[in-house]
This record gives sequence, C-alpha cells and structure tokens, in this order.
Amino acid sequence: MMRQYELVEKVAGYDPRVDEDLLNRAYVFSMRAHGAQTRASGDPYFSHPLEVAGILADYKLDGATIATALLHDTVEDTLATLPEIERQFGPEVAKLVDGVTKLSKLALRSAASREAENFRKLVLAMSDDIRVLLVKLADRLHNMRTLGHLDDALRRQRIAAETMEIYAPLAERIGMHRVKEELEDLAFTELEPAAHALMLKRLEFLRARAGDLMPRIAAGLKRTLAEAGIEAEVSGREKQPYSIWRKMQRRNVSFEQLSDILAFRLVVASQPQCYLALGAVHAAYRMVPERFKDYISVPKPNHYRSLHTTVIGPENQRIEVQIRTAEMHEVAEFGVAAHWCYTEGSERLDLGQFAWLKELRQLLEHASSPEEFLEHTKLEMYQDQVFCFTPKGQVIALPRGATSVDFAYALHTEIGDSCVGAKVNGRIVPLRAALHNGDQVEIMRSRSPSPNPSWESFVVTGRARSAIRRFVRARERAEYRRLGRAIAEKSFREHNQEFEELELATALPKFELRELDELYERLGEGRLTGRELSAVLFADDRRWGARDAIGAINRILPQRFRRAKASQHPVPIHGLVPGMAVHYAPCCHPLPGDRIVGIVLEGKGVMVHTIDCETLAEFAADDARWLDVKWEMAPDKPAAFVSRINVLVENAPGSLGHLSSAIAGARGNITNLKIIERNADFFEMHVDIEVADVKHLNGIVAAVRAAPQVHSAERLRD
Ligand code: MN
Repeated sequence: MMRQYELVEKVAGYDPRVDEDLLNRAYVFSMRAHGAQTRASGDPYFSHPLEVAGILADYKLDGATIATALLHDTVEDTLATLPEIERQFGPEVAKLVDGVTKLSKLALRSAASREAENFRKLVLAMSDDIRVLLVKLADRLHNMRTLGHLDDALRRQRIAAETMEIYAPLAERIGMHRVKEELEDLAFTELEPAAHALMLKRLEFLRARAGDLMPRIAAGLKRTLAEAGIEAEVSGREKQPYSIWRKMQRRNVSFEQLSDILAFRLVVASQPQCYLALGAVHAAYRMVPERFKDYISVPKPNHYRSLHTTVIGPENQRIEVQIRTAEMHEVAEFGVAAHWCYTEGSERLDLGQFAWLKELRQLLEHASSPEEFLEHTKLEMYQDQVFCFTPKGQVIALPRGATSVDFAYALHTEIGDSCVGAKVNGRIVPLRAALHNGDQVEIMRSRSPSPNPSWESFVVTGRARSAIRRFVRARERAEYRRLGRAIAEKSFREHNQEFEELELATALPKFELRELDELYERLGEGRLTGRELSAVLFADDRRWGARDAIGAINRILPQRFRRAKASQHPVPIHGLVPGMAVHYAPCCHPLPGDRIVGIVLEGKGVMVHTIDCETLAEFAADDARWLDVKWEMAPDKPAAFVSRINVLVENAPGSLGHLSSAIAGARGNITNLKIIERNADFFEMHVDIEVADVKHLNGIVAAVRAAPQVHSAERLRD
C-alpha cells in the first residue's frame, strides 16, 4: 500500500504548487472513515481509494482530483456526509465527490434499455465536470484489476459487462486509450475466458514462430529513418487480445502472422518530421493502398493525432506504422487527462472543446432508442462454440464436440469429401477426435472424393452429416444404376434381343416407375431381379409366364421376405434352410447386429455377408443366390455373442500387449482383430470379442479404456 508521503510526493513531483495539506487531510479522513472495512481481497478498504488516487496521479491530475479519488467512496460507504466533506475540503472537492457518488449509485441492470438509459444519465451527470468521469474510470479500472477476488460469479459478469459496454467506450471517447485497452482486456477475460485464452494461445504460437521478428523490423525501420537523417524513437507492440478478437469478429479476417497484429510507432521531434518520416518509410517500403490516414491534418474527435500507414516492411511482412510527435503521443495515450496535466497557468478545460460530448448530447436527444447506443459495443456470446484455425489463420467457428471432419466440411464440401486425415497442431489425430479452442487444423486430402459413411456417426454439424449422406447415397445409386443397366442388358441378351432403352421403358408403368434410372437402381439394388424384368418385357416367352410377372410386381414392396422354415441351426441366424452349411465372409466379418445377407454358394452352403459388403456386387446379377437372413436375437437364448469394439491405441511398443491383457483381464475372448487405420502415432482397430451380455461388454470396454496407451474405446453399433 502506498504511504501517505509517497502519494503527496508523487503529486508534488509534477505539481509543485499542489495543496499538500489538502491531500494529507483527505488521506487521513478517508483512512479513518473506512476504518476497519475490508475489501473482498481481505485488504483494508482504504487501499482501494488510495490505488485510485495513485492511478490518477500517474495521469498527473490536479490536487482536487486526487483528493476526490481518496474520498470517492466515503459518502456512499461510510458515515461521512457531503456537508462534512464540503466543510473540510471546500466546494470544489465536495462537488466532485458528489458527482462520483451519483455515478456510482446508478445501479446498472442487465436489460439493455436500462443500461442505455443509465448511460444517458451517466453522460449527463459527468458532463458537469469531466474530472468526475476521470475518477470514475480510475475507480472502475482498479475494481476490474481486483475483480477476481469477488466470489459472486454473476456479479463479476455484470461488472465486466458494464465495463465493456459503458466504461471502455467512454475511456475511448475521451482518448484514454491505455485505460480503454486495459478495461477491455480485463472485461474480456471475465466475459469470454475461452476466447481470451484462445487469443493468448494464438499469440504465443505466432510469437514462437516469429522469433525475434519484432526487434528485427524495428531495427530495419530505424535504419531506414537514420539514412533519411531522421532521428526517431521506434517501438513495436502487439495489439491487445480483445482488439484482435473484435477485429476478427467484425471483419471475418484472420491473423496469420504476428506482423498482422504488430504496430510500430515512430516518435519524432516535430510535426514536419512526421511527414518526412512518412516519406522515408514510403520510399523504402511498398505502401499498402487505402490504409494511409492523416489524423494530424484531421484529428479524431478525441484529439488524437498521428499518421497511420501500412507497408510491406523490412522483413517482407505487412506492418502498421504510426508516426507522431512526443506531444501527440501523450495525447494518444492519456487523452483528455493529457490536456488536464498540470502546467503553469493552465486553465480548466472548457467542456465545449470536446466535440464528442456535444455530439453525444445531440445523439441522446435524437436517438430513436437507447439500445442504439450499446449495440456496437455489445459482445456476442459464444459459449457453445469452439474456434479453430486453418493453417492460414482463418478462424472457423464450430459447435462444441465438432471433429476434424466437421472442420473440413465447414471449409468446403469438396474438402470434406476428400478428407482422409487431419493434423491438429502439427500432429496427426484420429478424425473422430473432438477439436478444442485454438486448435490449428490441417486437413489431409486424397485426390478423389471418398467420404467414409462411418463418419456420420461422429460428426456434429448438420452440414457435414448431410454432405456425407448425400455423397454416399449418390455413389451407391450410381453404382446401382451401373449394375442395374448391366442386368437389364443381360435380360435382353438372354432373349436374343438388341438392348433398347425405348423398349425397356415400356416396362416402367408396370413397376409404377417413371424413369429408367429408377428401374436400374432397383435392379442394381436387388429389389427387382433380371428374371422379373424379363417376365414383364418378354411376357410371351415360354420360360417366364405371367405368374412371374405378377410375382415380380408384388415384390416391389418396401421389404421382401422370403419365408424359410425356422432354422434349427445352432448358428443364431434366421432364414436358413435347415442343415445348410454357414460360413462367415472373411471380407466383412459380419457380427450379430450387422444387417446381413446370405449368398448361396453351389455345393458349399451359405456365405453370410454384411449388407454393405463390397463383395456383394459380384453377385448382383445373380439374384437366385441371394438369401434373406437375419440374426436370431431371441433373448431367451443365452449364447456367446461376438461384439465389436473400436479401439484407438498409440503406435508404441507393447501397446497391443496392454490392450489384449486388459481384455483378457475382464474375461473377454478376442475372436478377431482388424486394423482399420494405421498411422505413425496410432492404430485404429476393430476388436471382436465374445461376450455373454451387454454388462460383460461394458466391463471389457471400461477395462480397455483404462489400459495404458489406449486413446479411446467404444462399442460399434449399426
Ligand atoms: Mn470505489
């Protein structure tokens, strides 16, 4: 805590004529009035007005303002009264304290109109004497710096929102750029912790990549100016997380390189030197068009003056350059407080000088709704989203839980369709892994589009899901059409007819179809057979009579069931002829739960495939071989069921051993293991395990998840 004499010395340091007695008395009065009161941090309450006074002393404000800072909470929070203040400290300080007390009493509520209404009051109240606002801003700044000590999260949020919506814009309006930036960043941290962390992470990443870029660019600029005979102080700074964030929100821009968010400041001796320096910079580096602004000849309403330009800098990077004199710099940093800085014989500022206050008053009088005031400063809330970056720095907002596949589809459908892998922060990760805030995602693509139907089970965005479904369906249908046409051609051949689409089209009405493509699809899908088609087309053919035709038409029903006798077969499959040998296709490993189909192999029995097995295409034209079967899942038949789990495990020595001993430890018996994907750093595999029931399976899955080096494990369902 700053001591009494330290504060007084600090003020006397820039204002030798200050009434030290006034400061001493205000110090003692406030300390006594607040007495044993404490802050949420546990500090004595008095530390707060003292810090506020310290902040204002940094701005070199006059003695009355500093005394007001010391006293600003006494009337509100202690037994002290305004008449007492006036008696002890005179009318000037009393009026200021009254103004700050009134401002503090404005209970700002959450409804936007209420806030705007108070904003109006606030502006009107403070326009009596701008020092009231300066004290209030310093008060708010210190409260924001110590906000973390408040336990009440709602209260913290309310204070932060108020700061963002009202105090930061006010600080900007009176040109207190530094205060505005600090207020915004503190509020941003409270309101949007994820976004704030994301910006910091991104900055860190860029900083690490850029190395000593900033000093190199600064040295380059300094050299350029020295060669032109201009002496300048060159400094570089990064923009604040919040201002970057807002810029990205507003303009949907990315920041790809640190230089995009670096600003360099050249402080030169005089106004003419500003223009000379500008000339030297433009002569040495290529200027980026439409970025040049001359705020010296046309100052901003808050009196800000500077030359702004953007050039392709010494390291071949875009950089922003601000050129100003030391005096302009002071105004830029301290705003109205700079005008107030004590100088010999200085007059109190006439508020009329601040054009923005006039404008603001006019606006208040004419605005159609108070909400208009707050609209542009409102923060959007993005709590349900994650923000990720492309390698070029473009921000992609996705719902929480989104994966690299969602990311790929968010970029472009073509990118999603051709996605085969993803690198997150430079490391290959499973496509199904959820993305986190700040992840930089690089999508690896194949030459031809081939989205995997299984993606549908883990993508979370509607865009990705519908694109996958669309693509898979389109591919299936194209394949069915190709097959269907081959079947139709074969039908014609078998009846010694030239294949003729016109002729084929005559069969359409009989199947209640409108287009040939539909017919091809049905044929390809197996919902209509070549034999049935022939029966309709070549009805007079001896071999295929009308009965077949009727049968064929009847079979164009949503489902077809070939009734077979209930199987006595021990294999839990329904729809088999008793005694028929059953094989499980080695290509697709059908498991209970899979939708399956049987293919009759002459003399060998039935081969069971999953319905989506690619091998089935070979039998597409051979309808007689197809057998509709399904798993017998009768609950009263306890059996060892084979279940399939999907496991992601690190590609490291011993990891497969850990996996299998975890399964064995949970009394699971591995019947099959298939590696789906194998990368440098992980395996994705399907493990088939014999289990008694779901409970057993769940126990095994949990044991697998607990095994070292296992990234994830889950049951696969269809
Ligand atoms: Mn206070």
